Amino acid sequence: MTGATPGRHGDGTRAVRAGLPPAVKNEPTLPGPVFAAHFHLAGDVSGPYAYGRDENPTWTHLERAVAELEAPGGIDGRPVEALVFASGMAAVSAVLFSQLRAGDAVVLPSDGYQALPLVRDRLTEYGVEVRTAPTGGDAQLDVLEGARLLWLETPSNPGLDVCDIRRLADAAHARGALVAVDNTLATPLGQRPLELGADFSVASATKQLTGHGDLLLGYVTCADAGRAASVRRWRKIVGAIPGPMETWLAHRSLATLQLRADRQDANALALAGALLARPEVSGVRYPGLPDDPAHAVAARQMRRFGCVVSFELPSREHAERFLAALTLVDDATSFGGVRSTAERRARWGGDPVADGFIRFSAGAEDPEDLITDVLHALDTAARPSAST
Ligand SMILES: *Cc1c(COP(=O)(O)O)cnc(C)c1O
Repeated sequence: MTGATPGRHGDGTRAVRAGLPPAVKNEPTLPGPVFAAHFHLAGDVSGPYAYGRDENPTWTHLERAVAELEAPGGIDGRPVEALVFASGMAAVSAVLFSQLRAGDAVVLPSDGYQALPLVRDRLTEYGVEVRTAPTGGDAQLDVLEGARLLWLETPSNPGLDVCDIRRLADAAHARGALVAVDNTLATPLGQRPLELGADFSVASATKQLTGHGDLLLGYVTCADAGRAASVRRWRKIVGAIPGPMETWLAHRSLATLQLRADRQDANALALAGALLARPEVSGVRYPGLPDDPAHAVAARQMRRFGCVVSFELPSREHAERFLAALTLVDDATSFGGVRSTAERRARWGGDPVADGFIRFSAGAEDPEDLITDVLHALDTAARPSAST
C-alpha cells in the first residue's frame, strides 16, 4: 500500500499513518531508530544522509508525520517542511535566533511559557528590541508597528487565554512582520496555525503530542522553503538535535494521538464543569467551556480544546492540601500525558499567578474515576484538620 493522501483522511487515520514510508516487502511498517554518526559516503557528497548532525532517516520519518498533521493538504499547494529538535525550547530558540537580527523588534506574549523571559533577556543582550503584551483580547496588535516577528502562544500556558491567529497574522503581514505560533497546548489535531496564516508553527512534542511523559522533543514547521532552510542551518550550527531513540518513540506515540486527545480533552471538559460547581474554586479556565472568555475565538480556530484546565483555590495551604489528597493525579509539572498531573504553579515563581493557582492536566483515566478523585481531594482540602 502506498500513496496515502493525508489531506483527505480523518484525524485518527492520519495519526496512525502519518510519516510511514511506502510499503516494502519484508521491511517493518515503521522502521526502527537509525543510530549513526556518519553514513557511507564514497566520492562527492550527494544524497540526504552524510553526517548525523545534519540529517537522520528516523528524523525524516517523524518530520514527514509532523508536516502531514500540521498542514495535511500543504499550504498554497506546497507541502510544508518540518524540522525536529532536541526539545521544545530548542525549536522555539531556533525560530527566534535564526530570524531576528540586532536592531529588529519582536513581539512576545507577556503571559507565555515560563522560559520565554529567559529568551527575552538574551535577545535584548543581542540588540533585539523585545515588546510584550497579553494574549487575551489580541493585545499584541497594539505593539506590532515596525516589528520583524510576532510570536503567539495560544492557548497560553498556564493562563489559557486565546488570541485570534488569523486576525493577528493578517495585521502582522500587512506591516511586513512574520508570525510564529507556539502550538504546544493545542497540538496539530487541535489547531493548524499555518492554515490560519502563520509563517511558523512551533511546538514542544514533550507534551500531549507524544503524551507519555517519557521524552523531550520539539519541532518547527514552515511553509516557506527559504525560511525553513535558515532554521535548518541554525539547527546545524547549534546542534540541538534529537536522539534517534526519542525520535522513534515520538513517532510511535503519534499513532494514538487522536485516541489520547479525544479522551483527555473530554476529561478536561468534564473536570472543568465539575470545578465550576464548587464554591471554594474560582477562576476556572478551559477554552472548551461555553462560558469561558476565550471560547468564542477558540471555537472559531480550534477543533479540540486541549487537556489543560486552570483554576484557583483560596490559598497556598489549601492548594497543597488538595494536591496531597489526590490519589490518581501526580503532583508534577509539564502536561499532556496519559496520567493526570497537577501542580501549584506559583511554586516556580515567574508566572503571574496567585498562590492557590492550579494547572491541571487531564489524563486518559476513566472520567468518573478522575472526577471522583478530584472531588474527594477538594472535600479533604476543605477540612484543614484532616490535612496530611
Ligand atoms: C513545555 C513548553 C515549551 C518548551 O518545551 P520543552 O520540550 O520543555 O523544551 C514551550 N512552549 C510551551 C507552551 C510549553 O508548554
